[in-house]
Amino acid sequence: MLVDSHCHLNFPEFENDLDQVIQNANQQGVTTLLTVNTRLDQTAHLQQIAETYDRVFFSVGVHPHDAAEFVSKDLVASLKILAQHPKAIGIGETGLDYHYNNSPRQDQLDCFHQHLQASADLDLPIIIHTREADDDTLACLDDHPKAKGVFHCFSGSADLARAALDRGFYLSFSGIITFKTAEELRQVVQFAPMDRILVETDSPFLAPIPHRGKRNEPAYTRLNAEKIAEAKGIIFEDVAINTTKNFFDLFSKAPPK
Ligand SMILES: [Zn+2]
Ligand SMILES: [Zn+2]
Repeated sequence: MLVDSHCHLNFPEFENDLDQVIQNANQQGVTTLLTVNTRLDQTAHLQQIAETYDRVFFSVGVHPHDAAEFVSKDLVASLKILAQHPKAIGIGETGLDYHYNNSPRQDQLDCFHQHLQASADLDLPIIIHTREADDDTLACLDDHPKAKGVFHCFSGSADLARAALDRGFYLSFSGIITFKTAEELRQVVQFAPMDRILVETDSPFLAPIPHRGKRNEPAYTRLNAEKIAEAKGIIFEDVAINTTKNFFDLFSKAPPK
């Protein structure tokens, strides 16, 4: 059994065949899925997907790209209300993306702090998206020492990985680890402790080899888990068992299957 700890099932790429996509995942042993929110105005759609499929859960949050549109003094309260749903199991994705800077940095920072606040108040894990913003990301976490959660689609340096692990965070690995150029990332996979790693697809983006460039889907979680096993020199079943256990340890509001 595997968990896809981060996908976007509400995106238009899945609008015509979501039943089939969930079936494909189940056939590959990917039986629990977390569909992650990027915009609060999508929450109703995510909630509806989670209510339709037994083992699909969702999160509540605003992507750093969209921070400018949603940052407000009411954001903490909004997050807390939306997260009351029994299948809302995490806060995010949130964080800082200084690669694209689609929202001004100050809005991204304010939004990230508000998510961290909601996450701490609700005792729900935070799902962090960070790109080219290592120092500010860590500084925000240090302002909220109670925060726990995951660096999703981890693709940062070994230093950032160690800093995240030192703060008790999990690292989630996507299809990037299958790319030829990801040698440094595979080294991070090697030293990351087995009890601190998760696996994800970030579907519909980042399809792993041999599907690179096409639509990604949760069934391919298996390919990413196989690559983790190869990088660590262990068997696939060990990766499956551990990443599944880690997911339910962290996202403890979701009942294990
Ligand atoms: Zn992301
Ligand atoms: Zn995402």
